[in-house]
Amino acid sequence: MKPLVVGNWKMHGTQHEAVALAREVLKGLRGRRRVDVVLAPPFTALGPVRKTLRGSALRLAGQNVHWEEQGAFTGEISAKMLRELGCHFAIVGHSERRRLFNETDQTVAKKLAACLRSGLRPILCVGETLEQRNAGATRRVITRQLRIALKGMTKDAIEKIEIAYEPVWAIGTGRNATPEQASRAHATIRRMLKKLFGTKRAEQTRILYGGSVRADNAGELACAREVNGLLVGGASLKAKDFLSIIGNFS
Ligand code: PEP
Repeated sequence: MKPLVVGNWKMHGTQHEAVALAREVLKGLRGRRRVDVVLAPPFTALGPVRKTLRGSALRLAGQNVHWEEQGAFTGEISAKMLRELGCHFAIVGHSERRRLFNETDQTVAKKLAACLRSGLRPILCVGETLEQRNAGATRRVITRQLRIALKGMTKDAIEKIEIAYEPVWAIGTGRNATPEQASRAHATIRRMLKKLFGTKRAEQTRILYGGSVRADNAGELACAREVNGLLVGGASLKAKDFLSIIGNFS
């Protein structure tokens, strides 16, 4: 399975800065074909970054998406609009969206379905809080998030979905999961996918790890069991660090 590395730029960067960063990443990646790379700039920079990436294998992702195609939803963006801007992917259910913008497992499910209807590949984020981990509830939380998000999906749908395990306590904190913790959570996810979609499809689904991935810890996380790629926040804002992280897969 081809690994996937995603750079989530969050709410950082003017159009000018985004284009400069995309250019640097693109330049540094020349010739690396063994890994899929996706950039998720802010919505305002999608158009300009798209132009920069034209003709390359790099792909764009929206950081969020609404479940309706259009309507009175001030401040939202639809899957169709993201497609029009050149996105192939969308991050769905990021913990910052769940925590700061009250997204629920149910709205995440609707967003996931909207992506699939429009031909966007959703990157579905799941993960537990520190309290949940300390209470021994990691497995329960992850399986609940997956069960609700993937409810009613056809068996084929999983072929169009990426999963990201992002423990909430590791995102933006500088405290990453250990490779062992990541592997265990990924194995839980894989088991759940097998139950829902069968062994073959589950084994072909990419499960990314995200949470304080840096140039100095990406190597051990990249080769951890069941880890098929990385979702990188802060470290993706520096081309040198992001390229070094990607380098672990190519
Ligand atoms: C993220 O935004 O998905 C993320 C993992 O952030 P960071 O790498 O900064 O922890």
